[in-house]
Amino acid sequence: MSEKKNTLILEPTKENIEKAAKIIRKGGLVAFPTETVYGLGADAMNADAVGRIYEAKGRPSDNPMIVHISRASDIGQLTPMLSPQIVEIIDNFWPGPLTIVVKKKPSVPDRTTGGLDTVAVRLPDSEVARELISASCCPIAAPSANLSGGPSPTRAQDVIDDMNGRIDAIITGEDCRVGIESTVLDLSGEEPVILRPGIITAEAIEAALGREVKYDDSLKEAAKHVQLDPSQGVSESDFKPKSPGMKYKHYAPKAEMVVVEGERERVKEEIARLKALNEKIGNRVGVILFEEKAFLEAAHDFFAKLRDLDNEGVDMILAGALSDSDGVGFAVMNRMLKSAGYNIVKV
Ligand code: AMP
Ligand code: MG
Repeated sequence: MSEKKNTLILEPTKENIEKAAKIIRKGGLVAFPTETVYGLGADAMNADAVGRIYEAKGRPSDNPMIVHISRASDIGQLTPMLSPQIVEIIDNFWPGPLTIVVKKKPSVPDRTTGGLDTVAVRLPDSEVARELISASCCPIAAPSANLSGGPSPTRAQDVIDDMNGRIDAIITGEDCRVGIESTVLDLSGEEPVILRPGIITAEAIEAALGREVKYDDSLKEAAKHVQLDPSQGVSESDFKPKSPGMKYKHYAPKAEMVVVEGERERVKEEIARLKALNEKIGNRVGVILFEEKAFLEAAHDFFAKLRDLDNEGVDMILAGALSDSDGVGFAVMNRMLKSAGYNIVKV
């Protein structure tokens, strides 16, 4: 980042939303609440503005962004074609935490779509988000409003911690209702495929479409990575990522993190054992253990807990895995395993 900006912190009043919209129209960056996580927005049709998002987040890649609209009909600015399947999905799930990937119009900049010929689109149900988009008079490209690699922000303070001084404005608001990012559903081909799990599950989408909906193969594969064997004892080197393909850090806290997976009582015991072992050598250890089957609550709290533990300055986080092969718990596990760099202890 070049120079430190004077970031406006704006409560979500009508005047402030208008002020923020003006910033977006001029090519600036505004963070804003949505029902999933806070987004870092810019005019999706302005390649320079979108480029500034990458700079502010410190995101090196051209990972494509989700384009947010405030009325379903505005998808016409982005895609040349609506299939009956797309209409069915829009009717059933918008506004809400579901993003669809569709063919893009040439007018959507490559910067926004990472050079792909498709674009990811979402109509959020957060009113503040919709008012901002509507007042900006353009679709808003927005990834999560965190520094690249870290946990997504679900509270205004999280955004301030990461983005103050880096962007033009932050619209504050309530804690995000969902707490994890939207489900991403690819509708650009014959078969609908879920590219990223979220609280809108394959089962719910299948019910709406009346046909099978698969998770992308890589999502299922990702959970099967090299595991540690606790019977071999625990040393610091055991907590480094084991799988070379998984070096890419996403959602990661500052602390070292390990996911403990298995039958509930065994998981609790193993967490207690590892905690004691590590505290013996002077490490501060935080624990994340959600209520069994309380998957929506886990989604709501997960990123916030990672940030709280980092703020407390723990050295290590031990998290109990949720057992759910395809629902909301699976979506939380997708984040949990990534944030731990696939360090898994099986018990
Ligand atoms: P974020 O904006 O950080 O919530 O992430 C957006 C997610 O949507 C990422 O996982 C992207 O890879 C995915 N995505 C965005 N646009 C596309 C696209 N055109 N095709 C496939 N995936 C996409
Ligand atoms: Mg993100």
